[in-house]
Amino acid sequence: MEKVKAKKQYGQNFLKDTTILDKIIQSMPMNNNYVVEIGPGLGDLTKNLVKYKDLTAYEVDTDLIGILKSKFAIEIEEGKLKLIHTDVLEAWDKQKSLHNGKYDLIANLPYYIATNIILRAFEDVSCEHIIVMVQKEVAEKFTASVNDKEYSSLGIITELISIDSKILFDVPPESFDPPPKVTSSILYIKKDMSKNFDKDFNKFLKACFIQPRKKLSKNLTSLLSKDCISEIYKELNVDDNVRPHEVSSSLYSQMYTKVKNGRN
Ligand code: SAM
Repeated sequence: MEKVKAKKQYGQNFLKDTTILDKIIQSMPMNNNYVVEIGPGLGDLTKNLVKYKDLTAYEVDTDLIGILKSKFAIEIEEGKLKLIHTDVLEAWDKQKSLHNGKYDLIANLPYYIATNIILRAFEDVSCEHIIVMVQKEVAEKFTASVNDKEYSSLGIITELISIDSKILFDVPPESFDPPPKVTSSILYIKKDMSKNFDKDFNKFLKACFIQPRKKLSKNLTSLLSKDCISEIYKELNVDDNVRPHEVSSSLYSQMYTKVKNGRN
């Protein structure tokens, strides 16, 4: 078959390293969950996934849809693979959940929207496990803890919404065609299905980190009056000089509860 030209605007870096593909499959949780893949590309990961699980794959690129349809004609016919030609973010806008019933998201994500996709998977109440390839720096943000250099809204939300989150392994640029400019990592997150993602909490956290090196109280003035900040600090026993990366996720959660309860 003629070599397919990767499209930059869709973040296309095709994973060609069979050792890495095997390692992703070995990382799949042992459960009865359905699988959703975002961006099947040329179908290398899809081919491995469909050996073990039924899945739905969302692909935006019309040219790739044609290739995938002929490559997986049998699996599609047998109902093992459902191929959906759409922008996955639009799919989420329309239907809230990418699958009816518990599912695991397993994907080599397009990097330009990877963070957005993971946050949407947090919101999606049917999604339980997230096992995705992302840029290493992004994976580090999602797994960062208090006082880490990479600690931000992403690490805080992940800590509060998950039972487990970690980087499974790194993947070098040479494993892809074309090779990206950055190192990648496989990020693993097991969500706590009793927790809900609150978009407004995310907005609150972004305001807290707007100037990451400044005092948290300074950043909070964009949301609250000085009196209100003092009151919250006193009630929660927060040090006046604390910086955003020095505050634990549970303390952020308590602060937000007070803000939400109308103290501004
Ligand atoms: N899974 C393949 C692999 O591992 O080789 C391809 C991964 S490539 C990094 C990202 C894939 O996501 C591409 O196939 C791209 O066309 C697709 N994609 C990009 N933006 C998308 C979107 N908004 N919705 C669905 N798929 C998208």
